[in-house]
Amino acid sequence: MEQHKKIVVIGAGICGLSAAIWLRRAGHQVTLLDKEGPGAGASFGNAGLLAQWAIVPVNTPDILRTGLKYLADPNSPLFMQWSHLPRLAPWLLAYVRHGRGAGAQRMTDGLLPLVSDSVEQHRALTRGTSAEPFIATSDLAYVYTDRAAFDRDAYGWAIKRAAGYIPELIEGDAVREFDPMLGPDMQCLAVLRDHGHITNPGAYMQVLARVFEEEGGTLRRATVEDITLAQGRIASVETDEGSFPCDACVMAAGIWSKPLLKKLGIKVPLEPERGYHLHFSKPSQMPRCPMMIAGKFAVNPMEHGLRCAGTVELGGITKGPSRAPFRLIRRHVGKLFPNLTYESAEEWMGFRPSTPDSLPLVGEIGSTGVHAAFGHQHVGLTGGPRTGRWVADLISGRHPNIDLAPYDANRFS
Ligand SMILES: Cc1cc2nc3c(=O)[nH]c(=O)nc-3n(C[C@H](O)[C@H](O)[C@H](O)COP(=O)(O)OP(=O)(O)OC[C@H]3O[C@@H](n4cnc5c(N)ncnc54)[C@H](O)[C@@H]3O)c2cc1C
Repeated sequence: MEQHKKIVVIGAGICGLSAAIWLRRAGHQVTLLDKEGPGAGASFGNAGLLAQWAIVPVNTPDILRTGLKYLADPNSPLFMQWSHLPRLAPWLLAYVRHGRGAGAQRMTDGLLPLVSDSVEQHRALTRGTSAEPFIATSDLAYVYTDRAAFDRDAYGWAIKRAAGYIPELIEGDAVREFDPMLGPDMQCLAVLRDHGHITNPGAYMQVLARVFEEEGGTLRRATVEDITLAQGRIASVETDEGSFPCDACVMAAGIWSKPLLKKLGIKVPLEPERGYHLHFSKPSQMPRCPMMIAGKFAVNPMEHGLRCAGTVELGGITKGPSRAPFRLIRRHVGKLFPNLTYESAEEWMGFRPSTPDSLPLVGEIGSTGVHAAFGHQHVGLTGGPRTGRWVADLISGRHPNIDLAPYDANRFS
C-alpha cells in the first residue's frame, strides 16, 4: 500500500510544477516553493518547442573542433565570457569527453525516453484543465540556406532518422510555397510532421500553478536557504518564510539546484548555458509553424507574438545579459523574414541547467529523501512533465517501467 507523504517541491519551473501536480494526484500533501513565483526561470523565456526529435546532444563527437570554429566566428551562435573560463574548464573538459566514443550513443539512448512522447506527456499533465489549450500540434521546419548546409548536418540527421524522425525535404522556390514569409536566402527545409509547441510558456507556468492549487496543492513564495537532515534523511526545508517539515523533497530549482545541494555537501557539475530570446510583439507576419534556424536559434509563432530564442553563452550565472547574442538573433531574423515588421521586441536571457553528459539528474540523492529533478539543458520544457511523473512514481514507491540508470542522481558523486 502506498503511504501518503508530506512533500516539499523546490522550484516552480516546468520540472517542479510537473512533479508537484503528479505528486498531488498520487495523494500526497504537497507544498511548492519558489523564490519569485511560478515560471520565473528558464521555463519562462524558452523557445516553447516540444522537441521530441531532440535526441542529438549539443556535445557531438566533434564539439571541440566546432566549438573553436564557432568562437572565432561572429556569426555563430556560441559566445564565451573568457573571464569565466578557469571556473568552467573542468565542466567543459568533461562535456567534450562525454561526446566521444560510446558516450555519444549513451546520451542519445538517455534522451530518447525523456523527449520522444513529450506532446502526450504535456497532454496527460493538463487533460481536462485550464492549461490544456497552451499545447499546440505543429510541424517543425529546420531552415537551411541550401542543400549543402543541410548535408553538413548529416551526423544529426542520421541519428534522428535511425530513431524514426524522417524529414521531408523542400527545396528552391517550394520553400516559399511552404511559408511565404521566408526570405530568398533560405533554399532548403527539412520538415518533421506532427510535433508540438507551447503557445505561451510563461502563461502556461502560471496556469499550471493554478491547476496545482485547484487540485489541493499549496503554493508559497519563499526562498529556500537550506535543507535540514536528521540521521541522514530530510527533516525540513528552511526558507526566508520559515521551516517546512517534510518526509521527502524534490529539488527542481534548475540551475540554482547546484548551490542548494552544496549545502548538503553534494557537488553537482551543473553549468548555465546562457540563452537569449527576442520576442516580437504585434508582428506583421507569422510563420506557419515553429522553425529551427540551422543550429542558431528557434522561431515560434506564439499567441502573444513571434519568439526567436536560442544561442549559447558560457559565462556563469552572476553577470547580466551580453549584447552580442541579441544582435546575432536580430541580424538573422532580418535575413530569414525580410518583410517582418513589429511593434516592439522584448529582450530576455535565461540559464539552461546543463550537465556534462547532457542528461538530467532524476531520482533520490543517496538515501536522503531529497529527489533530484533538474539538469535538463536544452530540453527541459520538452522533458519536464515526463521527469515530474518519474519522480512522483519514485516517491510513491512505484518504480517507473523504464531503466532510470542514465539519469541516476548519484552518477557524478
Ligand atoms: C533561450 C532558451 C530557449 C530554450 N528553448 C527550449 C525549447 O524550445 N524547448 C525545451 O524543451 N527547452 C528549451 N529550453 C530549456 C528549458 O527552458 C529548461 O531546460 C527548463 O525550463 C528548465 O526548467 P526547470 O524547471 O528545471 O528550471 P527553471 O525553469 O529555471 O525553474 C527553476 C525555478 O526554481 C526557482 N528557484 C531557484 N532557486 C530557488 C530557491 N533558493 N528557493 C526557491 N525557489 C528557487 C526559480 O525561481 C525558478 O522558478 C530553452 C532554454 C533557453 C534559455
